[in-house]
Amino acid sequence: MPRTYFVRTFGCQMNEHDSGRAAGLLETLGYRRAATADDADLILLNTCAVRENADNRLYGTLGHLKGLKDQRRATGDDLTIVVGGCLAQKDGATVAEKAPWVDVVYGTHNLPDLPQLLAQVDSAAIPVVELVEQLETFPSALPAKREVRHHAWVSISVGCNNACTFCIVPSLRGPERSRPVEDIVTEIERLVADEVIEVTLLGQNVNSYGRDLFGASRFAELLRTLGDVDGLERLRFTSPHPRDFTEEVLQAMADTPAVMPHLHLPLQSGSDRVLRLMRRSYRTRRYLNLVARTRELLPAAALTTDIIVGFPGETEQDFQATLDVVEQVRFDQAFTFQYSPRPGTPAAALTAEFVPPEVVAARYQRLEPRVRAHSRERHQALVGTTQELLIESPSKTDPSRWSGRTPGNHLVHLPAAPLTPGRAPVYAPGDLVTVAIVEAATNYAIGSAPIAVRRTRPGAAAADALARGEGWARPADAPVTPGTVRVPLPVLVP
Ligand code: SF4
Repeated sequence: MPRTYFVRTFGCQMNEHDSGRAAGLLETLGYRRAATADDADLILLNTCAVRENADNRLYGTLGHLKGLKDQRRATGDDLTIVVGGCLAQKDGATVAEKAPWVDVVYGTHNLPDLPQLLAQVDSAAIPVVELVEQLETFPSALPAKREVRHHAWVSISVGCNNACTFCIVPSLRGPERSRPVEDIVTEIERLVADEVIEVTLLGQNVNSYGRDLFGASRFAELLRTLGDVDGLERLRFTSPHPRDFTEEVLQAMADTPAVMPHLHLPLQSGSDRVLRLMRRSYRTRRYLNLVARTRELLPAAALTTDIIVGFPGETEQDFQATLDVVEQVRFDQAFTFQYSPRPGTPAAALTAEFVPPEVVAARYQRLEPRVRAHSRERHQALVGTTQELLIESPSKTDPSRWSGRTPGNHLVHLPAAPLTPGRAPVYAPGDLVTVAIVEAATNYAIGSAPIAVRRTRPGAAAADALARGEGWARPADAPVTPGTVRVPLPVLVP
């Protein structure tokens, strides 16, 4: 029987991506994915240091896993426990001291070493710990396990050269290191050959990509180069920094059809005074100019953002400035956070400036209805348009509906239609389906029955998806537009 693994991910998309790579590495070692942690021979916790009480949560989880490991040992079995990610990088030796039943602790730059570290476990009586401060070479050749077949995350850089005072990333992920263009292109071509049609480029500050390699950012060129990869339908990226966002990047977005019209542009605060305290090196005027230029060059672009409420020292006037910017921009979606100190960050030391929690909560309550109203308004603006959706899966809350994403990344639910054995083409995750938008809500829109389908994967893969219960039939009366790709129908057994 092959050994099995379970990966639990805490934190951000960068960690999700690293978890996919860890899973890929484990599978090359012969491990198979377990359905639950209780069924696994190896449990990997990919940790995050950003969330509040992250260390307490980690030690709580490790305490639980000790019980599981003891039970296994009592029956002559074993459980391998691995801790990786940002908190492992920050607390490495402490993790091994506080939880000596852990087998491996590895830092944010040591993921490629995981196989060697696991190989040392049997001979080591104590946790095997591997942490380096900086990335030496970019781990471009790591295999990655994808959550869905049609989408992949691709790292273009790691680390960050900024020093935002609320953020722990620079001290944990080190200075920015860009990955060579050829490596990125090769990985994306390989992914496209393996049925990926949408790629999201990942970096802490994507638009400074290449500064360490070429002396200047080459992000705009990278977008144009990747836009030429045959078969790549949708290209996204996250996250840009408003300071480094250039006209060239906007032009590249406008000129490159594969680059989707969606910009996630973290605002953090609408007050220049607070931006200075945060050490965010742009000002509100620059941010608003960038928004205006985006809307000129990419009129259909969706704009999303992150906002922190109650940063230390934020006054009522500062908060009002944030409300004013939010009112002007009217974001498609805003991720709003109440400030809470992250140990190890400069802002966490500004205790005398902390805004009382009840004031932070009250401001947050004033901001939330505004961003929700704007979201609704932006979704409402889609009503009456036709949109090509990348089909994801059945809706998480209502399995009678399916969900897809517009080019602007808006979530759209489609009414499910019954399968029509032997007649209708099957829609599967990864297909591109055109619908008319007929209704809007705050966080999603509703699409009509499909108008057209573009099958993006071979018929066999679609049939496999159907066999797994992921298929979806075109209603018999839905017209099919010219250019629609028809595939041989799978034989269905009613
Ligand atoms: S740009 Fe600022 S918030 Fe983003 S990772 Fe770098 S330091 Fe953190």
